[in-house]
Amino acid sequence: KLNTAELQAMDAAHYLHPFTDHKELGARGTRIIERAEGVYLWDSEGNKVLDGMAGLWCVNVGYGRKELAEAAYQQMLQLPYYNSFFQCANPPAVQLAKAIADVAPAHMNHVFFTGSGSESNDTVLRMVRRYWDLKGKSGKKTIISRINGYHGSTVAGASLGGMSVMHEQGDLPIPGIVHIPQPYWYGEGGDMTPDEFGVWAAQQLEAKIQELGEDQVAAFIAEPIQGAGGVIIPPDTYWPEIKRILAKYDILLVIDEVICGFGRTGEWFGSQHYDLKPDFMPIAKGMTSGYLPMGGVIVSDRVAATLIEHGGEFFHGYTYSGHPAAAAVGLENLRIMRDEKLIDYVKQEAAPYLQEKIAELAEHRLVGEVRGVGLLGAIELVKDKATRERFPDKGAAGTLCRDLCVSNGLVMRAVGDTMIMSPPLVISKTEIDEMVGKIWTVLDQAAEQLGV
Ligand code: PMP
Repeated sequence: KLNTAELQAMDAAHYLHPFTDHKELGARGTRIIERAEGVYLWDSEGNKVLDGMAGLWCVNVGYGRKELAEAAYQQMLQLPYYNSFFQCANPPAVQLAKAIADVAPAHMNHVFFTGSGSESNDTVLRMVRRYWDLKGKSGKKTIISRINGYHGSTVAGASLGGMSVMHEQGDLPIPGIVHIPQPYWYGEGGDMTPDEFGVWAAQQLEAKIQELGEDQVAAFIAEPIQGAGGVIIPPDTYWPEIKRILAKYDILLVIDEVICGFGRTGEWFGSQHYDLKPDFMPIAKGMTSGYLPMGGVIVSDRVAATLIEHGGEFFHGYTYSGHPAAAAVGLENLRIMRDEKLIDYVKQEAAPYLQEKIAELAEHRLVGEVRGVGLLGAIELVKDKATRERFPDKGAAGTLCRDLCVSNGLVMRAVGDTMIMSPPLVISKTEIDEMVGKIWTVLDQAAEQLGV
């Protein structure tokens, strides 16, 4: 068995990591995560860490689920791989499509399988344009998205996303994708109340549609709650106003459920939390709890009917669309979620408890705002609570807290100076107490180091 230093040397010599500053990584040495159980990880030095991010918003049913390993193993023995092109399918993929349709909103009954959330959004881009072509409105090509949204890392995904740092690297977005402001009241609401700001932010969509011409606009894409952007929860007035605008101009709605889907908000899907009626829901992550990679797009009946009845061949798909072993894991993952009544557990117990406990963190001198829905939470770090003044060195307080989390045995993510959390849905109340206790310690230590 290789020791930590040997693995780190090999990593430094050969491994290019996603979203990583390799000089910083070289100076610290890569952290090698070796095993996991429940909500805990162990690194190669034997440190035990509470995973407050469920991997990367993935491991909804927790680590160490032998049923999922068994489902993958049995399927690999039976049929490890076959394609689903050219009129073929395999039993677990067919059953997974049905099982997803059963939990999706009533008007959504078809699934297109992909290998990841990014591929799901690429698929959406093509399906949206195909739909309007088939409807004889091929001028409708432009997709409106939001600044600071995240929809993946492929060229289409990063273009649909609104992360300026990603756009700067690679001449993005591609043509036909435009962005409007995000509904981020704490950071950008100015003197408006949350409700006023929610309406204002939604009306930016109407202004953009009018600027472009409604015959040019194909779809609006958004996460129900922006995850990677810092758990941005729209004010209550936002989604109702967006719905009004989309209906008025006949524009498709894409709700990116890659994070919010499969129980994160205390409903099966975030769109149900906000009573939305999407035409497309890209999914991934919690779909298999990350045990094997898989994604998909859930499609509304009206779009599916058009694609099926008038479509002919749609020249799109991936080698791993409907991968049998991943599908078997997805199917078993859904069975676990149903049999263990995980959605009810999140909605009635874990989420109210977590939200009550993190709300108390708002008293801390380093904390400007705490917000959350379901098992998503965010903590805004500020220099001055009263004025919302930020730290001059943007992101440094977040990085400090992220590192202090690790040294206190907790994983959280920093988005600039916002700390975000998203633990496995199976987290117990005792584990929530442990997590929030560690956050208090981290905030105290950080406040002292920052001189606040
Ligand atoms: N959409 C959202 C909302 C996401 O959070 C992510 C991943 N963080 C993606 C899409 C992309 O998924 P993947 O990394 O599986 O390509």
